Amino acid sequence: MNFLLTGGLGYIGSHTAAVLQQAGHHVVLLDNLSNSRLEVADRIGRITGTRPVTEVGDVLDTIRVRMALRHYRIDAVVHFAGLKAVGESVAQPLAYYHNNVAGTVSLLQAMAAEGVRSLVFSSSATVYGQPQYLPLDESHPTSATNPYGRTKLHIEQMLHDLAASDATWRIAILRYFNPVGAHASGLLGEDPNGIPNNLMPYIARVAAGQLPHLNVWGNDYPTPDGTGIRDYLHVMDLAEGHRAALEHLQRTTTPCDVFNLGTGRGTSVLEMVRTFEQATGQSVPYRIAPRRPGDVAECWADPTKAQRVLGWRAERSLHDMCASTWAFTAGQRSAPAPHILAV
Ligand code: NAD
Ligand code: UDP
Repeated sequence: MNFLLTGGLGYIGSHTAAVLQQAGHHVVLLDNLSNSRLEVADRIGRITGTRPVTEVGDVLDTIRVRMALRHYRIDAVVHFAGLKAVGESVAQPLAYYHNNVAGTVSLLQAMAAEGVRSLVFSSSATVYGQPQYLPLDESHPTSATNPYGRTKLHIEQMLHDLAASDATWRIAILRYFNPVGAHASGLLGEDPNGIPNNLMPYIARVAAGQLPHLNVWGNDYPTPDGTGIRDYLHVMDLAEGHRAALEHLQRTTTPCDVFNLGTGRGTSVLEMVRTFEQATGQSVPYRIAPRRPGDVAECWADPTKAQRVLGWRAERSLHDMCASTWAFTAGQRSAPAPHILAV
């Protein structure tokens, strides 16, 4: 089948593109390069044997999206494109509403106009807000504590409204927990600009000697070792979750449905540090620092709906998440400059 991946050069999109191509599908990537590099398409090509067709463009450009949907005879869209930094969303809310919410409206208008009504949307466990019980299942109440989370909630509501207005839509909303790790080739991974906000890329930079130590944001939470607990899942498992969701859309009669993608297991910050050290042989010095404002103590998924309905389950271990992250980070440090790789 033919799939359009908006934001397909980004962290999760690139891994999903590789998985879909290796399953025999055709993928077209549409990305405005705001948080990615064109060279990622070359790398997907090195992994799969086919460089995916890549359109440098913006989802806000409705005409451009329509032309891509028509030209490449797209059957379904996976909508990754968006801004995702919580702190930045507080400082620049309009940029987030414009890019994420208006960008999705533009995409949906293009899809409706071209008669493409199958969509997988990247949502987030952040829409659960402060957990009222654990594990989090899909019927847990939703709320948002920052503009980024609110954009995801607005988009989810918009997708439900759209499906209610026209039952021929087939929409899967995927609520990701904490994606980490990298492709086994070491060619794809997460490479944030500047100082990372998230735990795993920060640990990798410390292990690489690029940052002096990890700040552990709080060790006084009501958890066994006092540090925050999250449900980390391997990005390749997540990529396979998108394949399962796309296949599900072909057979379902439900216009719009929501799925958690997580492992169902919680890991503390200190457990993650220890596992990274064991998996890589690198040391990760850390210091205990005050809690980060807005953080929840613990958060993990009930992934049983995805298993039951999509036939998907996260399989890869925490050890693999750490080892693959390190292989990618170490490879980035020794890699030639991107323009040389791209030749
Ligand atoms: P990413 O930043 O690596 O990828 C997003 C891609 O979208 C980038 O390549 C960027 O250049 C592109 N993009 C942004 N705005 C665009 C626009 N208007 N038009 C075209 N391209 C645009 O992020 P990611 O981690 O791969 O996340 C993908 C999606 O998953 C996002 O919607 C994010 O909110 C969501 N998500 C991510 C996480 C996570 O921890 N990484 C967790 C939950 C949800
Ligand atoms: N964390 C930390 N130091 C960091 C980054 C994160 O101690 O430099 C902790 C954070 O407080 C949380 C966990 O690691 O308990 C995961 O944080 P991340 O930002 O990766 O994910 P999120 O909080 O968005 O789920």
